[in-house]
Amino acid sequence: MDTKQQVTAEHDRIRVVGARENNLRDVSLEIPKGCLTVVTGVSGSGKSSLVFDTVAAESQRQLNETFPAFVRNRLPHYGQPEADALENLSATIVVDQRRLGGNARSTVGTATEIGPLLRLLYSRAGTPFVGYSPAFSFNDPRGMCPRCEGLGRVDDIDADRLLDYDRSLHEGAIRFSPFAPGGWRLRRYTETGLFDNDLPLRDYSAEQLHTLLHAEGFKPADPGPGWPPSSTYEGLLPRIRRGFLTRSNERAKPEVLAELDTFVTRRTCPACGGARLNAAALSSRVDGRTIAECTAMEAEALLEAVRGITDPKAATLVAALAARLEALISVGLGYLTLDRETPSLSGGESQRVKLVRHLGSSLTGMTYILDEPSAGLHPHDVARLNRLMLRLRDKGNTVLVVEHDRDVIAIADHVIDMGPGAGADGGTVVYQGDVAGLARSGTATGRHLAAAVRTRAEPRTPAGWIRVRGATRHNLRGVDADLPTGVLTAVTGVAGSGKSTLVREALPPSDPDTATIDQSPIPGSRRSSPATYTGVLDPIRRLFARANGVPAALFSANSAGGCPECGGLGVIETDLAFMDPVTTVCEACGGARFSPEALRHRLRGRDIAQVLGLSVADARDFFTEPEIAPALARLDEVGLGYLSLDQPLSTLSGGERQRIKLAAVLDRGGGRYVLDEPTTGLHPSDTGRLLAVLDRLVDQGGTVVVIEHDLEVIARADWVLDLGPGPGRHGGRVLFAGRPAALAESPDSLTGRHLCGFRY
Ligand code: ADP
Ligand code: ADP
Ligand code: ZN
Ligand code: ZN
Repeated sequence: MDTKQQVTAEHDRIRVVGARENNLRDVSLEIPKGCLTVVTGVSGSGKSSLVFDTVAAESQRQLNETFPAFVRNRLPHYGQPEADALENLSATIVVDQRRLGGNARSTVGTATEIGPLLRLLYSRAGTPFVGYSPAFSFNDPRGMCPRCEGLGRVDDIDADRLLDYDRSLHEGAIRFSPFAPGGWRLRRYTETGLFDNDLPLRDYSAEQLHTLLHAEGFKPADPGPGWPPSSTYEGLLPRIRRGFLTRSNERAKPEVLAELDTFVTRRTCPACGGARLNAAALSSRVDGRTIAECTAMEAEALLEAVRGITDPKAATLVAALAARLEALISVGLGYLTLDRETPSLSGGESQRVKLVRHLGSSLTGMTYILDEPSAGLHPHDVARLNRLMLRLRDKGNTVLVVEHDRDVIAIADHVIDMGPGAGADGGTVVYQGDVAGLARSGTATGRHLAAAVRTRAEPRTPAGWIRVRGATRHNLRGVDADLPTGVLTAVTGVAGSGKSTLVREALPPSDPDTATIDQSPIPGSRRSSPATYTGVLDPIRRLFARANGVPAALFSANSAGGCPECGGLGVIETDLAFMDPVTTVCEACGGARFSPEALRHRLRGRDIAQVLGLSVADARDFFTEPEIAPALARLDEVGLGYLSLDQPLSTLSGGERQRIKLAAVLDRGGGRYVLDEPTTGLHPSDTGRLLAVLDRLVDQGGTVVVIEHDLEVIARADWVLDLGPGPGRHGGRVLFAGRPAALAESPDSLTGRHLCGFRY
């Protein structure tokens, strides 16, 4: 080999030397460039620490250093990852499962950039011609419906639900926390001199009630001392509309938004009929269709329509639109409409929408990092996802995928298997090489690739049935279905076939008996941790207080005992308008979160920061107290023993969030539980453990319904409801209902076919 070739060969690999982030134990390895590498291993083994906290973080940091100083000062400061060397990195793009943009103005059309192309099409080829592309945008004053400001719906405040007529203003008659007693917003009513603040609202005259709710624009004649002198009165409803329901206030806190839902009813905008656009924009047609009709079509149908456009002025745009729509369909999202709001997409759907955006880009030589892209995908859809990732690779990119799915592992050019265990028992590379070698390697992943799946020997008998009749929501086509109670049911079918919709019909989330154990964020999660969530933190503080003869509050990082510099967060967060916020470790406490005074005290030889830094599994050895031990045992049981007691819940993955919620309901007894893909993020060797937990819920008298693609879970269920056959309008029918063993023989079920292909 001559020198030049040698140099090229060396640059063909990303080199990681001595990586030590989180639990990594001096990991050294090479990742071939231009290849698809799958990083696998049990949960908590260190996959994310390697891929995200080391490779991606360093790539981002080095990239930032290349900017001129004045730009760099505005960029986040990434700490250097703990590693001896990281070489030959390329620019890295992380395509994760974080949900896309949080408001109603972000739709599949805007997120995939298909929307702007469509607007260009209408500005070129629409009849009549109504203006340039902004004239077709519901996010632009030139295009938006003036009545709903482009939201497609209007909000009505239900005063009877907003007000508690049995209370006075001072007692909290306004059931909306921004107007709680003691706050400045309520004072704008109690200081007017217009109302008897101690009189229950039911004793108000009709006129007083009208003033409270609707009047506006005058100065109170005889206000109290707390009334700002020059201000005018604004009734409760206009005030709430202005402050919480209009465009400028879309970024309200999630807690407030949830409260709004309790007294605000939404209805389709009467002016635009939900189309979001003004009359001029809706008058323009291409091939007889308005732009709103296009965005209401499923992507697959829209592609057909677009291909039918023959206007030569539109030829280039038609080609660009078709390419984008094809990409959307090829990631298994052909059932989505462009007007679908992105906050309603699942994590997996969000990730695939992002993937479409990158497929459209012409960048090459990049490193793409994907975090469990198979989440939410039926085995049938995984095949399409695979083709897409290979296309990304074949454009000259390096593709790095964190994944457990055997069908994804199967296409890897290179596999890195982390382990052998989680947390302190993991952090090493137990196998690297090709897929064939993995199956023979004897690692946990290797064994499971080779293992067989079994159905339950004796399926349990349903206690009763929940009957759904004639369901027509979303894509359901007059579905009749019976869901058994007191057993474990798997609801299966390709993505978009109607699984979540059907389950919601049978077990509405509003039913107080139903616990939906989903992957959604846990409110206030930056300050909460496994310790706070399970309620063991207070007993731990009391133990510290008792052992040291000081008040328990001293051991609260959020109050008396917190580090004064970071307010007990351990990190300093810098918000950047155009990027994700960045966190850096607090220099004062070094991330310990506590004040020096708090850290002076010990319990059984450890200070409070050390105790909270224990993993759940280690903490089980440290605490035997009955108010602490059982909660820790439940966390361990759902496979979260590797989390530390103080790890912020905001750092948990969707799957981990779901399992922590699951731990909270264990041992509650009875009840109905809905879980959406509980195997997300779970290594196959942990699936058995999850099944044991679900079995326990059933044995305690619970009804458990899982929406699942994992064949092992499906096989072990007592009952299966299979929906399909396709997504969106091609789905919405029940194809099979019965025991899993019989599903394999069901002729039209794709799930059955995949179950057949599985060894028993
Ligand atoms: P995987 O991706 O394989 O599930 P991770 O790399 O996320 O594993 O985690 C490896 C170990 O590092 C676990 O013990 C986990 O609890 C710990 N860990 C991960 N992220 C953090 C963090 N931000 N702070 C503290 N510990 C962490
Ligand atoms: P699955 O759970 O099988 O992936 P869903 O029940 O989420 O399927 O979706 C079934 C159909 O209903 C799809 O065509 C989907 O686009 C549509 N759908 C689901 N949720 C909504 C929503 N919030 N608004 C509009 N359409 C929806
Ligand atoms: Zn409107
Ligand atoms: Zn600090």
